[in-house]
Amino acid sequence: MRTQVKREELKDGEVLCQYCTGKCCRYFALPIETPTTWEDYDHIRWYMMHGSVSMFVDEGSWYIMVHADCEHLLPNNFCGAYETRPSICRKYTTDDCEYDNDAAHEKLFETPDQIWEYAHAVLPVRPRRTVDDPVSLPVIAG
Ligand code: SF4
Ligand code: SF4
Repeated sequence: MRTQVKREELKDGEVLCQYCTGKCCRYFALPIETPTTWEDYDHIRWYMMHGSVSMFVDEGSWYIMVHADCEHLLPNNFCGAYETRPSICRKYTTDDCEYDNDAAHEKLFETPDQIWEYAHAVLPVRPRRTVDDPVSLPVIAG
């Protein structure tokens, strides 16, 4: 089993990924529009009900994070498609990666209840739903 080493302890020729559990290969995150209404928060709550979904906020921007291992991640945490890996992986560097950064986000929501509680804290009182309210499924903004 690999031992966690500090960045500054790397020897010549070593790379940080040798000592990592492949953290950056186990999720993806996409920016979403900042929620401002009950409907926005209700949509986010719906995303999170599907499981393995978190929301985080960094520098004021909101992101949806889907926790899912890349299909090419090997049992030893190396990349099984290194030569043909997507450009996102090629451009990613260890410089500011999450190796030693345990998801210290400005805000982090891990359950539908947490986002709903936050909505109650920041929004005006929720209007009562009537039987005539239309029901629509959310669409991610482009
Ligand atoms: S880039 Fe960082 S987070 Fe990703 S595998 Fe390497 S050390 Fe781990
Ligand atoms: S293709 Fe390789 S580097 Fe990219 S996410 Fe998958 S395992 Fe990680």
